Amino acid sequence: MSQKQPIPILMYHAVESTERPDKYKHFYVTTKELARQVKELKSRGYTAISLDQLVAGLAGGPLPEKPVVLTFDDGYQNVLTNAHPIFEAAGWPYTIYLVSERIGGRNEWVEPEGYEATPLLTASEIATLAASPLVTLGAHTATHPKLDQLSPEAAHDELIRSKAQLEDRLQRPVPHFCYPYGHFNEAVVELVREAGYQTATTTQHGRVNATGEDLLRLPRVSIYHVPPFSLTYGPGALNFRWRVESRKDKRRRESS
Ligand SMILES: [Zn+2]
Repeated sequence: MSQKQPIPILMYHAVESTERPDKYKHFYVTTKELARQVKELKSRGYTAISLDQLVAGLAGGPLPEKPVVLTFDDGYQNVLTNAHPIFEAAGWPYTIYLVSERIGGRNEWVEPEGYEATPLLTASEIATLAASPLVTLGAHTATHPKLDQLSPEAAHDELIRSKAQLEDRLQRPVPHFCYPYGHFNEAVVELVREAGYQTATTTQHGRVNATGEDLLRLPRVSIYHVPPFSLTYGPGALNFRWRVESRKDKRRRESS
């Protein structure tokens, strides 16, 4: 029996063709960084799997030797233009979480905090992605609220509305969900379950255990822009390797 290693789910946001001012570093990686990371993962023996494959694998189905799951929050337009070609060339599956009532808009929810908004995927771009066998489209609510700060009724509504809207658009089940801002609590997890989602990803740092993992509180590994020769983070490539393979698991400390 081979001992099963914990599985990293990588969390990305936008994929920019050029660097942005420093204050945006947690919102993106560059196209170059992503290409280098995919190459690095391949050379270290990783194989990307979809969320459906992860669910089947955790239920006892077959998994590759070193699986990795790639996820992109919010549905930025530049994921299609900059990341999709990289995954097509690699033949690797990945997931994009969409905000169902912001399709064709911008991530204006960052504006109150002093950030400029970035364009989100349009309806026709989503149709293009939906036609690719590599792409899983998941739900990220209807309007990107902090679910734990809404009334139970309003949170329930966000969860079922986004699922119904995406299923209607895609004409397929949408069983995968991602908590906006990583905000959730016991009651929100129950609402996610009631809405019929099979998995939900958080922003809590850690890798997924091969057994006994709660599918509605999946931890992830946040990947963001690190300049190639950052003094704070060390060289970008080393930082990436450290983040993906670190055994540090902060889940217990971060949950309330
Ligand atoms: Zn988000």
